Amino acid sequence: MKFCCETFRRLHENAGLREFAVFTARYPDSFVFVLQNRALDPEALPPFTESPMSSVSEMLLNYCPSCGVTLKQFYCEDLTELDKSALKLGMGR
Ligand SMILES: [Zn+2]
Repeated sequence: MKFCCETFRRLHENAGLREFAVFTARYPDSFVFVLQNRALDPEALPPFTESPMSSVSEMLLNYCPSCGVTLKQFYCEDLTELDKSALKLGMGR
């Protein structure tokens, strides 16, 4: 698969790690591009705090945050290959 830029390739490799990451997810029934940040490593215990805390934050993207290509257009053949639906908030994790 050809990536639009090196930054997007690295962001996709980060999916599920304590980093910023991008991936596609089926939501609700077509693919969306998700930019996600995880504050904790996958096996980390949640920190003790009485304050509300978000350990995972995400937003949907239309354009690559680095080079600006229209994602659905550029990756129209690769939506399934980029799929990490299980990592998306509200998808059972
Ligand atoms: Zn790009």
